[in-house]
Amino acid sequence: VKHTKEDVLNLAKKWDVRFIRLQFTDILGIIKNVDIPVAQLEKALDGELMFDGSSIEGFVRIEESDMLLKPDPSTFTLFPWAGSDKYTTARLICDVYTTEGNPFIGCPRSVLKKVIKEAEELGYTFHVGPEPEFFLFSTDDKGRATTQTHDNAGYFDLSPVDKGEEARKEIVLTLQDMGFEIEASHHEVAPGQHEIDFKYADGISTADNIATFRFVVRTIAQKHGLHASFMPKPIFGINGSGMHLHQSLFKDGKNAFYDPNKSHQLSDDALHFIGGLIENARSFTAITNPTINSYKRLVPGYEAPVYIAWSEKNRSPLLRVPARRGIGTRVELRSPDPSCNPYLALAVSLKAGLDGIKNKTKPPKPVDQNIYEMSQGERIEQGIHSLPSSLEEALFELESSVLMEEALGQHVYHNFIAAKRIEWGLYSRQISKWEIEQYLTTF
Ligand code: ADP
Ligand code: MG
Ligand code: MG
Ligand code: MG
Ligand code: MG
Repeated sequence: VKHTKEDVLNLAKKWDVRFIRLQFTDILGIIKNVDIPVAQLEKALDGELMFDGSSIEGFVRIEESDMLLKPDPSTFTLFPWAGSDKYTTARLICDVYTTEGNPFIGCPRSVLKKVIKEAEELGYTFHVGPEPEFFLFSTDDKGRATTQTHDNAGYFDLSPVDKGEEARKEIVLTLQDMGFEIEASHHEVAPGQHEIDFKYADGISTADNIATFRFVVRTIAQKHGLHASFMPKPIFGINGSGMHLHQSLFKDGKNAFYDPNKSHQLSDDALHFIGGLIENARSFTAITNPTINSYKRLVPGYEAPVYIAWSEKNRSPLLRVPARRGIGTRVELRSPDPSCNPYLALAVSLKAGLDGIKNKTKPPKPVDQNIYEMSQGERIEQGIHSLPSSLEEALFELESSVLMEEALGQHVYHNFIAAKRIEWGLYSRQISKWEIEQYLTTF
């Protein structure tokens, strides 16, 4: 349902909404909220609500600290868990504008809109379906998060596994109440790890959905005394959490990746899109995998990709083309993890694919062997490169990419790199437990 301004005002009355949460994200993908009483709703919908942008990571620009929030009325939704509270609360997702009335160049949602517009000018609609994974961890007696999974934490009341299953069921029901179409939800490979897949939608809706999803999962987990974490690799030695992104382009209402007359039944657009993703994979990884910890997931042995290649048959490479054809023809990008800013991750991935289409980039041959079992020599022979192995390496690649600078815009590009360089600097000076164990008594 796509609400208009009038719909929102009527629904707010009908649902007896008392507070509205105006929601947007900073450059790092953290949700920010401004709560307003319902009396301010009309003013907010007219885009007249001001806030101080200097308090938000990466928003600062000395001369521009005042910003406007422009809510997107189509995103008006009740928070179902607040229904039992005294005060009903709803939310609206916003774009950030300057006081002169222009989209703020540091707003990730506007960055994605700009790349989507580029696709539309070429006649394409961008569709994305995500597969976010996360852990449900126990909390200690002070309510703080641990890395203990309830699966093995030994509770006496509910059987341990049930506690997580129970929470996941309520998460699914809550998301459905908020309009999500849940396609599947299941326990993942690692103890305490879960996946919930929702139906693909246009790029903006999917990025909004991912941001909302992470917030809902955390909120409902908390109600169950659990901590939900989207950290990419919380525990050494077991699978980390990814967020595969299934992507397709539609043209004139038809899936533009499908061509029944071509080999593999993949159109030239599909192959060029794959070509663009492969060519730019090293440049966009800092955005799809933005934390130090992200690179501890991208290692061999845990179903996460390491090598830049594509396949129809196996799940070891970066890109997989699932067997579905017709309307379901799509490319699955397997590197992103759920710590990414969903707006920026979709923006860079689409930009890379479009670049392939514009330049008719021919992808390499699909690789149907298990890449992990190939020797380094065989990989070099077939031209298979690796993803960056650290945030530092990924930042270097991002900084060398003119295409990524264009995708993100100067402001986000430079602020993101600066913030992440600081993060890397702080991390690399730490003395880890591992180092102490290895070296303290050896030297
Ligand atoms: P996997 O086999 O990797 O587990 P799933 O079947 O669980 O994949 O995930 C499928 C995802 O792909 C869902 O989010 C689904 O809505 C999405 N999807 C299906 N068709 C398309 C399409 N044409 N374009 C983009 N995403 C799609
Ligand atoms: Mg899956
Ligand atoms: Mg999975
Ligand atoms: Mg799935
Ligand atoms: Mg998958």
